[in-house]
Amino acid sequence: MSLLNQRRVLLVLSDEPAASETVAIARLLSGAGVRVGIHEAAGAARWFGAAALEQLFGEGLALERVASSWEADALVVLGGAEARREWRAHRAELPLVETPEEGLVAASRWLLPCLLRTLSGSPWKSRRLLVTAGPTVEHFDAVRFLSNPSSGKMGYALAEAAWIAGAEVTLVSGPTALDAPWGVRRLSVTSTEEMREAVLAERYDVVFMAAAVSDYRPVERRVGKVKKGLETWTLEMERTPDILAELSASVVRPELLIGFAAETHDIERYAREKLRAKSLDGIVANDVGAGGAFGSDSNSVQCYDGAGGAVSFGPAAKREIAAAVVAWADGCLARKR
Ligand code: C5P
Repeated sequence: MSLLNQRRVLLVLSDEPAASETVAIARLLSGAGVRVGIHEAAGAARWFGAAALEQLFGEGLALERVASSWEADALVVLGGAEARREWRAHRAELPLVETPEEGLVAASRWLLPCLLRTLSGSPWKSRRLLVTAGPTVEHFDAVRFLSNPSSGKMGYALAEAAWIAGAEVTLVSGPTALDAPWGVRRLSVTSTEEMREAVLAERYDVVFMAAAVSDYRPVERRVGKVKKGLETWTLEMERTPDILAELSASVVRPELLIGFAAETHDIERYAREKLRAKSLDGIVANDVGAGGAFGSDSNSVQCYDGAGGAVSFGPAAKREIAAAVVAWADGCLARKR
């Protein structure tokens, strides 16, 4: 999270924050390269447990005890709603990081995304965005199915990056092992048909179709589990609906519609063909030929826009690629207007 490197966060201990939460937050921030100024509001040391704080300061982290006027990039207040109001007024020039109800969620889930969203200035504020992610799964009996090895990591990283940019994000996800990114509404689906219904149900401003949708599904789904009596079993398959093409031609077509392409060769040619055939505003292509992309934590992509432009990002962590793709999409949107 290089964006956080050397940023300054004023961490105010007010009311009665749990010592363990405070320690976890200070460690997370300094672990991300943030310089943390800890301000103990009146009487904090008394109830915070001076020992816990002393121990923290003794760990050699980038922490210092500071006055309430310490110069910073963002403000985190550990305390109740009243304390947050008071500090928001007291340091009105500082963006306040939105924090969940105290103690309910581990800081490791919300702290860094919330801080990044605050520091980003939320350029995508009030933009409604949809991301599809993961595989779809097509059953041919109660326990057997056809699918693909998509992990969902790229789509989840995009949902997180868009939320950090300030958007209101919905993630329509096939089965994956991932936690929903903080702040993102997740709708879980299994089959292509379920994904199709979820995608077409509402209108969004921007849609990223990053899911690895099954292209075929069994014509028939048998009831229960078929006993393994047969020596061979021939399945008849049919094409699934192309959700992206359908969305593109629908009344709920978003202002900006971005598709994804996984190719093993002739990446640019196939990507541009898809861009045209499905009337997209942009397409993000990745090379799955070299064993990369699927399930990996890193990726490299080529992004093609409707005006003939092309840019490449990576190889880099999917999180970084996602932030770059969101910034690229922002440019595409600006050119459309
Ligand atoms: O044509 P192809 O499957 O390569 O196109 C990939 C893009 O189309 C991806 O954005 C994928 O999410 C989307 N897609 C879809 N419905 C399908 C197949 C692909 O929305 N049935």
